[in-house]
Amino acid sequence: MFYISTRGQTRPHSFTEAVEAGLATDGGLFLPEKLPDLSGKLAGWAGLSYPELAAEFFQIFAPEIPAEEWRALTKEAYSRFDSPDVAPLKKLSDQTYVLELWHGPTLAFKDFALQLLGLLYKRQVKLKGQRLAVLGATSGDTGSAAIHGCMGQDGIEIFILYPTGRVAPLQERQMACTGASNVFAIPVPGTFDDAQRVVKECFGDATFISEVNLSAVNSINIARVLAQCVYYIWASLKLPAEVRATAEFVVPTGNFGNVLAGWLAQQMGLPCGSFRVATNQNDILYRFFETGEYRQGDVSPSFAPSMDIQAASNFERYLYFMLGKDQNRVREIMLRMKNGDKVTLPKTQSSLRASRMDDATIAQVIGQVWQDYQYVVDPHTACAFTDMAKDRVSVVLSTASPAKFPEVVQQATGSEPLHPSLETLKEKPLETHPLEATAQAVKAFIREKLAL
Ligand SMILES: *Cc1c(COP(=O)(O)O)cnc(C)c1O
Repeated sequence: MFYISTRGQTRPHSFTEAVEAGLATDGGLFLPEKLPDLSGKLAGWAGLSYPELAAEFFQIFAPEIPAEEWRALTKEAYSRFDSPDVAPLKKLSDQTYVLELWHGPTLAFKDFALQLLGLLYKRQVKLKGQRLAVLGATSGDTGSAAIHGCMGQDGIEIFILYPTGRVAPLQERQMACTGASNVFAIPVPGTFDDAQRVVKECFGDATFISEVNLSAVNSINIARVLAQCVYYIWASLKLPAEVRATAEFVVPTGNFGNVLAGWLAQQMGLPCGSFRVATNQNDILYRFFETGEYRQGDVSPSFAPSMDIQAASNFERYLYFMLGKDQNRVREIMLRMKNGDKVTLPKTQSSLRASRMDDATIAQVIGQVWQDYQYVVDPHTACAFTDMAKDRVSVVLSTASPAKFPEVVQQATGSEPLHPSLETLKEKPLETHPLEATAQAVKAFIREKLAL
């Protein structure tokens, strides 16, 4: 299996190469050259445990890693989840199910991919005998999930930049209270964009990259999308057989990574009906699915901060399929989008629709879901509970534990959501490494920590 770039100007990569590179050199995103047909395999996968299912799936996408090794990797990655099901499917009513994706170490769905990615990095370090410096910028969940995937791993140092005072207090604690000597949580002045700019500048320095063996952790790695396909297959196999083929997956969305994984699984033969892209007030994707028009606006901070985005970075992968895999057109349209131009695409037949929710409604919906089902949702998951399909079963993907967002949830339900791992965190000392928002400061810091 080879991976090609959505923009068509990069040589085909193996899975391992594509994971290591992250972004293609032509600026595009990696995708499998050809999507395999999984429909013949699904029945045989029905009785597997979550790690076994993930191992079967990844053997198809990365045959260069032996089957036995995949089984060990997925077993280790998902043993750190606090539910034996890893992704439990809960039934709220005959019409509504919730797939809980927050039983990993940082209590949000990004652990599914980043626990595995941490182990893949470790494997690379062993194979190559060279230490790895992992660098990324975060507005919250990606950074903490990446840190928990890499902490304590031999041969890896991880450096995560975030905007001072602009991540949720518990998210900062998840990054800065690990006690691990290979983790560096770095607050920088400014916004997420400033942190991101510094990271990009560091990656613009080829000498530095090879000097410290620098690797990027971000939301566009192909390993993330593939790891997320697995829980759609898992959920589908757990649903009653008679509703499977028509069920609608409802996915709280920011960068379009999570919902894209489900849509790809459907293209590979997973029986399901449709998808709803559930956005918050930062509704670029809602506007796109309603009108066909894609135009970046300004980010307005919301109760669901991990969905506060200006441009949905994984959208390019969907665009590639929408444009009939015409890589020249993808390149041309992405350049126009990058310039902030309004881009209008013809409306095509698709299994995707969209909804949006503002902050006032998020708070109200958390209260309503509690009343209706005695079930507590976090502000991201709340965005899914609107415009429910009438003619089919909905499977809501719950992306974070309510305990990560205690203020909003307590106001809406009257009681504070708690999680033991977060309670422990509240007592640990915070260890941060504040730096100026410049590439020079960050590079000097990394060199110093690696003692180069
Ligand atoms: C990252 C995140 C999202 C958005 O996921 P995308 O893949 O960017 O669409 C939603 N909810 C939570 C809790 C997240 O951490």
